[in-house]
Order: sequence, then C-alpha cells, then structure tokens
Amino acid sequence: MFEYAPAPESRDVVDLRSAYGLFIDGEFVEGSGTPFKTVNPATEETLAEVATATSDDVDRAVRAARKAFGVWSALPGAERAKYLFRIARIIQERARELAVLESLDNGKPIRESRDVDVPLVAAHFFYYAGWADKLRHAGFGTTPLGVAGQVIPWNFPLLMLAWKIAPALACGNTVVLKPAETTPLTALLFADICRQAGLPPGVVNIVTGAGETGAAVVAHPDVNKVAFTGSTEVGRTIARAVAGTGKKLTLELGGKAANIVFDDAALDQAVEGIVNGIFFNQGHVCCAGSRLLVQESVQEELLAALKRRLGTLRLGDPLDKNTDIGAINSAEQLARIRRLSDLGESEGAERWSPACELPGKGFWFPPTLFTGVAQSHSIAREEIFGPVLSVLTFRTPAEAVEKANNTPYGLSAGVWTEKGSRILWLAERLRAGVVWANTFNKFDPASPFGGYKESGYGREGGRAGLEAYLAV
Ligand code: NAD
Repeated sequence: MFEYAPAPESRDVVDLRSAYGLFIDGEFVEGSGTPFKTVNPATEETLAEVATATSDDVDRAVRAARKAFGVWSALPGAERAKYLFRIARIIQERARELAVLESLDNGKPIRESRDVDVPLVAAHFFYYAGWADKLRHAGFGTTPLGVAGQVIPWNFPLLMLAWKIAPALACGNTVVLKPAETTPLTALLFADICRQAGLPPGVVNIVTGAGETGAAVVAHPDVNKVAFTGSTEVGRTIARAVAGTGKKLTLELGGKAANIVFDDAALDQAVEGIVNGIFFNQGHVCCAGSRLLVQESVQEELLAALKRRLGTLRLGDPLDKNTDIGAINSAEQLARIRRLSDLGESEGAERWSPACELPGKGFWFPPTLFTGVAQSHSIAREEIFGPVLSVLTFRTPAEAVEKANNTPYGLSAGVWTEKGSRILWLAERLRAGVVWANTFNKFDPASPFGGYKESGYGREGGRAGLEAYLAV
C-alpha cells in the first residue's frame, strides 16, 4: 500500500480582489444594488464581494451593447473572427488561472476545470471564430439580431458563458450576460480577457446579481434575443415574460437522463461510463446519467463492480489534483440533494454510499446509490443535480425505451451494448437531444446540444448553434 500524498494546485496564480464591480462598456463600474458575497463552497470562506446590478444598471449595459452593435455588426466577419481567435488564445494562455478560480468559486475538482471546462471554453471560441466569415454557408442568413440578453447557471460557469457568448459574437451580436450569483468570478475574469483582447467597449457586458438582475435582462425592451440556461421552473417564467414581445428565445433546461446498460455490454467500460455520467462535476450536470437502467440478467454483476469502483473515488479539496468529487456548490443545493435523498429512502428505495469521510467545513455529499427504485419514486422523477444515482432494471429493449422516455425531460441518454443495430434502434426511439453510445458526457463545440419537452428548445453548439443568433 502506498501512502496518500495530497497534490494541491497553488492558488497563488489567481489575483483575487476583495471586491468586484460590473463590466459595462469596457469598464469595471460600481453597481447600484447591495453587493453580495461569493464563497468557496469547500471551505465556506468568503472569496469576494460582488456588485449587484439593478434594472438601471442593466439599462446602462443594454445601452452600451446597443451602441456597440452598430460598430461590431458592421465589421467584416473575418475581422470579428480575429477578436474571437485572440480571446481563445488568451484563454489558453491564462488557462491555469481560470481553472483555479473556477474550482475555488464553484467547488469542482481542479482535474475537471483544468482538463474539461477550460479546454472546452477555448475550443468554443476557436470553433465559432471559424464560422464568423463563413456565415453565408451556414444556411441561416447573415443578419445578426442585435443585443442578446443571456442568463446562465452555476454548474459550468465559464463553459456556459462560452456557449452563449462565442456564437453570439461570431454572428455580429453584442451581449449582456448575467452569471449565476454563486459563481460570478470567472465571468469577471473573462471581462478582463475581453479588455486584454482589445474587444471594442460594449460588445460584451457582464452584470452580476441574483434572479432579479436576470429578470431585468430578460424584460429589457431593447434586448432582441434571450438565451437562458438553468432550471425548468425559471425557464417557464422567462418563456412567459418573453411571450408576445418578438424577442427570439432559446431555453436550455433540466434533465433526468437514462443510462441504459444491456447484458452484452463491456461491463467494466460501462462502470466507468456510469461513474462519469453521474459523478462528474458532483452530478451538477443537466445531462447527468442520473437513472441507471440495467438489464436484469447483469444487475448483480454490474452493481458489485460499480460499488467496488465507487469505493475508490476520492472526495475532498477541489484544488487537490487527486480529487474525483469536489464540494456541492451551495448550502441551498446541498439541502435540496439531502431532501430528495431522504425522500428516496422514505419512499422505499435502498440507499448505499461507500465509506467516505466528509470534510468538517464546506458543503459535501457522498457518492450515493439507490437500488430498488420504482418509476414512481421522486428520486426517479425529479432532477436531483447531485452525486446520486437511481438504479432501475429492465428485461427487453422495448421496456428500456419505455422507462427511459418516462420522464418530463428529454436532454440526453446513454446506451451500452456491443450491437450497432441496437444502438441505432434505440437512438431512433429515445426522446433525448443527445444519445451517447458506449460513452457518456462527451462534448465537442462542433456537436449541437439541446433538449426536448421540459428540457427546453433551441440548440447550442455546431452549425445549428448559429441559428439562434441570426435573423433567419
Ligand atoms: P436557476 O434557474 O435557479 O438559475 C439560473 C440562472 O437564472 C441564474 O443566473 C439565476 O440568477 C437566474 N434567474 C433566477 N431567477 C430568474 C428569473 N426570474 N429571471 C431571470 N433569471 C433568473 O438554475 P440553477 O440552479 O442555477 O442551475 C441548475 C439548473 O440548470 C438545473 O436544472 C440544470 O439542469 C440546468 N442546466 C441546464 C443546462 C442545459 O444545457 N440544458 C446546462 C446547465 C444547467
């Protein structure tokens, strides 16, 4: 046996300020609302005070974006591309700083922010930079919409920003973006990157604050397009606010994905996919494989292997390079995960977690498995958005499809089988925007992503992602 040696990433690379303002018209300015604190969820330490944008501040930001729209949309696509390429390269140069700050503010393991989030963020800017001078080949016209109001969640703060800002700018729009209130810091570092890239003032504006600030962005009469990623509940409120205004709208909402394992699948490989599907980013993933559907004949073997594997996961300091599972993003989210897990037990499912010591401070939840889950149980129906997996069984492919589709959501699904024909058969029948086969949680900027039913509408990524930002 070897001794465990922690390998924490240094936080010296981040120049954390004690207070942050709003980013409007190329400058950091004070907000008119009461500032709020953003904390490190792994330690509960306050990281910084952040400005709250009132509706007057949002109005200033929208006016700056409107003024900049004239300049930005008039640039030839190839010129806009140069700025986007420059932003992508600076993101690569400052990758370590961005990754450490993301892990501090969000609680996600540095291994993920460093190897997944930040590389994908740069990839998104590179990808859409490539489209900026080729829009006429995309098939959606070349006319930008104007000012885009964008509201994003806390689970992938910088990646969701990239998904929103890169296509908007490539198409010639300007933006006012509101990050989530528990994770505003990397968006503000991105604002600094925009300045470093020499982006014309007002093309990107960042307004921080809670739900009211988001609502002010959505309701502003001079916003032409609203892009929202977040919960289905808030998505509904936004759809109502936008109805009849003529604003274009895309909604990327919640999910409850099925990860379906057939008896002919490579089980060890499937175990890795299941772990990646639900424990990546503490399960704070809209497309997380939170319902495991396993063919009855291999249930015992698969669960034994899965439990062995879960026993090896390391939970703790997000900045430790060995960490697999970091902190839950906020006390509110932890309370929600606890409530739904307790409900799972009281409704009759059996709960299991590996032996796992939780740190004394901060917000933590152990990797958790529920067996004996029925389709009617709350843990099988509601989005938990945490490291909690519900296990259900099936006997035939038709039963697997029926159970997988038995959800109000439709964002993603996973299929594990050796048979190519079965993969295609399922992909045709699963009501999910993305179906992964013998893998899970694979993302690429060239591949469109989005949902059916209560998971929202519109696609982000790929050529399809341009449509949301052009007057088709
Ligand atoms: P949330 O809906 O509570 O908040 C999302 C954002 O909306 C935050 O910035 C928040 O301040 C803002 N907001 C809150 N009320 C608002 C209002 N009335 N008007 C305008 N903005 C408002 O969601 P969350 O808890 O931050 O994120 C988790 C949810 O996001 C999960 O349901 C998850 O599935 C979903 N999500 C979906 C995708 C996707 O691509 N489909 C990706 C990531 C997360």
